[in-house]
Amino acid sequence: MDYEAFFQSELDSLRREGNYRIFANLEREAGAFPRARRRADGREQEVVVWCSNDYLGMGQHPKVRQAMKDAIDRCGAGAGGTRNISGTNVHHVELERELADLHGKEAALLFTSGYVSNWAALGTLAARLPGCVVLSDALNHASMIEGIRHSRAQKRIWKHNDVEDLERKLADLDPDAPKIVAFESVYSMDGDIAPIKEICDVAERYGAMTYLDEVHAVGLYGPRGGGVAEREGLMHRLTVIEGTLGKAFGVMGGYIAASAALCDFVRSFASGFIFTTSLPPAVAAGACASIRHLKTSDVERKAHQEAVRKLRRRLDQLGIPHMDNPSHIVPVMVGDPVKCKMISDILLEDYGIYVQPINYPTVPKGTERLRFTPSPYHTDADIEHLAQALHALWSQCALSRAVA
Ligand SMILES: *Cc1c(COP(=O)(O)O)cnc(C)c1O
Repeated sequence: MDYEAFFQSELDSLRREGNYRIFANLEREAGAFPRARRRADGREQEVVVWCSNDYLGMGQHPKVRQAMKDAIDRCGAGAGGTRNISGTNVHHVELERELADLHGKEAALLFTSGYVSNWAALGTLAARLPGCVVLSDALNHASMIEGIRHSRAQKRIWKHNDVEDLERKLADLDPDAPKIVAFESVYSMDGDIAPIKEICDVAERYGAMTYLDEVHAVGLYGPRGGGVAEREGLMHRLTVIEGTLGKAFGVMGGYIAASAALCDFVRSFASGFIFTTSLPPAVAAGACASIRHLKTSDVERKAHQEAVRKLRRRLDQLGIPHMDNPSHIVPVMVGDPVKCKMISDILLEDYGIYVQPINYPTVPKGTERLRFTPSPYHTDADIEHLAQALHALWSQCALSRAVA
């Protein structure tokens, strides 16, 4: 077999379908977020980043940077091992305590990313609970899907956010079989929010565990940044809350928070937890500083929601169609993969606005979009510049407007 030719032809077909991914080469500027320098074809361009998941700009926060610098100076660069073999640092232990407290749980367990936490925790729970069935929301993230697949447990997919469908599927199962209901709070592409209380009610009636991914909500919602479940007073109803340290907390890593026994079980059986070098102590220290700050400071959350409101209002005034939702994610609908890519290219080249086009298979065909994530640090002028740019492009590309 000609391996190289095979790789090339597969890549060519991605390009033909408009699904070939091109990464923007950015140099983020601490203290200037959301501004960054973009390198392309030997030149540099200042851009405003409009699609970052560093939702609150915590990646540049002075307390977070200082905590990371201090930890490097005290502990050095890496953890030096897996958690079991010399790689458990005081900063990991402190961070796990901070996370358990954030979610009102007995314990928490750290992983190297949110992806790994879903993959390892769901994979281990579903594989080791005898005869376990996983009930998975249709729009769950790839990391949960892969974890469930890896577990080889039976899986039932319920209609997105549809509690009645979930209930029908639960009712069909053996009442004595262990069950896990796996879902997210904020869904990252449409920005809609799950009916957490109703899902917990149904799960409880059928004796199922609940596993909630709050990756797009931790730091952002709830009086202490514990997520949507905290805001709605529901954290105690969930068996497992999973989150990331890489989005609103601005650093890197993932975790679960749950009972002491459940965390100890995953700690003891999850290959993806056991057989990998633990996070650098400085990363844990930075995440800890970020979480602590957001537990007591509401300034970032308020300014974040205000920026979201302002952008939506300007888009409405100009008739730029965006998906209405109760979260901080602003999907501007284009509905055509070629136009979506073209608009994002023009925004970048002509306006210094960086937003990645979101096409199939990340979203269904016909719902191609630009996913904007305003932050507390996008100024009124940034918002106006974006709104005017979209206004001009909507005319230029003959895209349909929303009816006000
Ligand atoms: C990004 C994401 C993850 C993975 O988190 P990382 O820390 O980036 O690996 C998990 N779940 C959802 C819903 C996500 O969007």
